[in-house]
Amino acid sequence: MKFICPNIIFIAFLLSTATITSSQSESSETNIISRFQQFLKIKTDHPTPNYKQSSDFLTSQAKCLSLQSQTIEHVPGKPLVLLKWTGTSPELPAIMLYSHTDVVPAEHDKWDHPPFEAHLDSEGRIYARGSQDMKCVSMQYLEALRKLKEWGFQPKRSIYLAFAPDEEIGGHDGAEKFSLSRVFQDLNVGIVLDEGLASPDDYYRAFYAERSPWWLKIKAVGIPGHGAKLYDNSAMENLLKSIEIIRRYRASQFDLIKAGLKADGEVISINMAFLKAGTPSPTTRAESGKYTTAVPLFIVIRHPSQIGYDGCQKKFALVSCHSDAMADI
Ligand SMILES: [Zn+2]
Repeated sequence: MKFICPNIIFIAFLLSTATITSSQSESSETNIISRFQQFLKIKTDHPTPNYKQSSDFLTSQAKCLSLQSQTIEHVPGKPLVLLKWTGTSPELPAIMLYSHTDVVPAEHDKWDHPPFEAHLDSEGRIYARGSQDMKCVSMQYLEALRKLKEWGFQPKRSIYLAFAPDEEIGGHDGAEKFSLSRVFQDLNVGIVLDEGLASPDDYYRAFYAERSPWWLKIKAVGIPGHGAKLYDNSAMENLLKSIEIIRRYRASQFDLIKAGLKADGEVISINMAFLKAGTPSPTTRAESGKYTTAVPLFIVIRHPSQIGYDGCQKKFALVSCHSDAMADI
């Protein structure tokens, strides 16, 4: 572990050791789960997240906790909810507990229980889209603060909770605009705690040096030819060369992790996400095999901060030799 603010560890510790002393308490396990389920039932899935309802829920929670709240819309209809617990030394750099309110879409027929009913089964498992990514973290922040307040704790530094929209589609209208805003600069934030991984037990892992995403599309092109002939330089053939380079690089990175030489956050992860294959030329018929093929391949890359975007681009320059174009998406 590199550096984690002691106050943050304290909050996580409180979460892991929250003892239920009274079934009537606002912090009783039943109430905590009930609030979590309420949040999970709000349909904030793309492409039409109900941000109004999630903002109303969070603002009502702020009221219960006597936290200051404001809703900021850098883009109309995309609210960021910002809560504040003022510290006894507000001039010190503040702590920000960040989370996002949107979730990825759910394919209802692939779920054992409907994804927005927050079903709680007899084993204590809750089924809901966003239960891990990342409404559980949002609620942990709120419940930790609730517990601290019940105990009469007063933070030295001000604590901000930011609930942002649009993370799942790049965060451009949410965290990005917020981080560049005057509002954010004036908060004097010293450390931000962001999302990590949900934990199935009482251990909470701390991560640092999150890698930067690079969503990439490469498009292989080639000459057309008749399906009855063998010919060189087809688009599919060109794409395979790029795929093989990516596959080898991916394996080399994965080997470092498997051998215990590097941690997840120290390598470039690269995953070929999906393929949109075979674009027939309007002047040819598909069944004849005469394709002027363009083959877009969508790739998800995460690169460590030490390597950076430029370094990552250089590493994959070879890939582009076998394809017509590389484009950020
Ligand atoms: Zn997330």
